[in-house]
Amino acid sequence: MTKQKMAFIHQPLTDTHHQPFPRPHIEAFETPLRIQLAFRYLQENGVLEGMKVTKANRAKLEDALLVHSPYLVHTVEIMSDLGSGYLGESSYASPDLLRSALHALGGAIEAAKSVAEGKTSHSFALVRPPGHHATTSTSMGLCYFNNIAVASRSIMGRNDMDRISILDIDNHYGNGTAEIFYADPNVQYISLHEYDYENFGVGHFDEIGHGEGRGTNINIPLVESTHDVSYQSAVKRIAIPALESFKPDIIGISAGFDAHYADPVGNMDVDSRTYWYIGDQIEKVVNSLGIRGSFWILEGGYSPFALGPSIGASLDGLQGKKIPKLEDQIDREEHEMLIESNNEIIEKVLETISPYF
Ligand SMILES: [Zn+2]
Repeated sequence: MTKQKMAFIHQPLTDTHHQPFPRPHIEAFETPLRIQLAFRYLQENGVLEGMKVTKANRAKLEDALLVHSPYLVHTVEIMSDLGSGYLGESSYASPDLLRSALHALGGAIEAAKSVAEGKTSHSFALVRPPGHHATTSTSMGLCYFNNIAVASRSIMGRNDMDRISILDIDNHYGNGTAEIFYADPNVQYISLHEYDYENFGVGHFDEIGHGEGRGTNINIPLVESTHDVSYQSAVKRIAIPALESFKPDIIGISAGFDAHYADPVGNMDVDSRTYWYIGDQIEKVVNSLGIRGSFWILEGGYSPFALGPSIGASLDGLQGKKIPKLEDQIDREEHEMLIESNNEIIEKVLETISPYF
């Protein structure tokens, strides 16, 4: 079997789940339009050429039980049947919630399996609603089922997949993923995020995991308006060495793109060059560790202008292509003070976790 480089799994464009608010409510930005426009951008710009492109199948409701409580799973099912109602902070039901959430989960599981089973080196699941805020027992932050957590659990213990690293590059802290794996020594969770912003009260670098899982939870809380320079520095100085130290069998990426400067929800200041850089670094670390590959699951990213190019750039980096020249790559001021603050934070994180390396 010749191994294809990249699998790309996209959600059926007929899924209509959305939050019951008009703009400018922040919840209103998580709409089906996000992936419709991103998918069109990727198709029209040739990004998907040479990839194995498939539509996501619906996961089974039981799949969600791999990480979630029966109470949460049944609540999502019942509220979706009712067609409306409140499930958790910034997480409301709609008539199409369950179908959309199970397609997102199915796409995530397929992405993880494609790489775990050795069919492709990397994969990307263009799915929504996102997942990384959903905890074991609570839907929140636009998230119902934790797609990357379920996908990770679904491949563990098979095909020699015993240790997984999850790198979360979304603007927000993946509190749900962190909670689910907080005491698990076989799952490393590394998050870059905007500190103290819609993070549900967690995300400090002092939170390093519990019990046997101590040292496997690595939080990199960067200051508001963080520029490409600091973002890339945090990846290079913390995330990559952490992956090299943990030596996972596979890497999952919680691929949120809301740290883009054009994003209406996040407040960071990066452009598609940073997403190319992350793809490039992941490809290099996969090769240097000689591991199976990486699977990417879409989380946030709410600017129709920025989401397609950001995904495209990361996929180019992941496939060893040169950095693409894209319209969003404009030179923006690098504030020395912010870079210095971030350098101090990076030092603090390294100091905190280095005993576990
Ligand atoms: Zn986010």
